[in-house]
Amino acid sequence: MNFTQINQRFLALQQQYPKLASWSIKLDRARRRAGACYVQRKMISISAHHIELNSEATIIDTLLHEVAHALAYEHDRITGHGPLWRKWVKRLGGQPEVTGRFKVPDAPWMLVHLEGEELRPIAPRHRRNRSIKHFMMRGRPDTRGQLFYVDQVEFKRWHHGELSLTDVTLIQ
Ligand SMILES: [Zn+2]
Repeated sequence: MNFTQINQRFLALQQQYPKLASWSIKLDRARRRAGACYVQRKMISISAHHIELNSEATIIDTLLHEVAHALAYEHDRITGHGPLWRKWVKRLGGQPEVTGRFKVPDAPWMLVHLEGEELRPIAPRHRRNRSIKHFMMRGRPDTRGQLFYVDQVEFKRWHHGELSLTDVTLIQ
């Protein structure tokens, strides 16, 4: 399902619910959440990653989830996932569950400790911290300056012996 199709569904909802007339919809690049509803700006935002990774039914459910926020706010100035929001979700034909409804992308980076010729994985990261040069592992001041980000794909290839260390891009 692409954004044009989502926008068409949104336009149909605007016709059905006139209080949505002044609302708009856009795409964003969020990785951990599927959509967002900004009541002050009267804007619904859907994650492009969410659209790439999920089925049409799940994407429509995300749209209905956010539209229910918009309607609960327009009618009763209500935010959050309480009974009035649930009432709107059900009326729109959506699922009133809040979590576990959709897939999120893998974190694009692996934070690693470069120790000699070894890359020791510390944790996946969704974004890079620009101060990484100054970071160290907890209680290990000797590791300051030895922490890097590696693209997850490169890290996996290095881990499987398909890339040598000199072919891995270490980012600080
Ligand atoms: Zn919500």
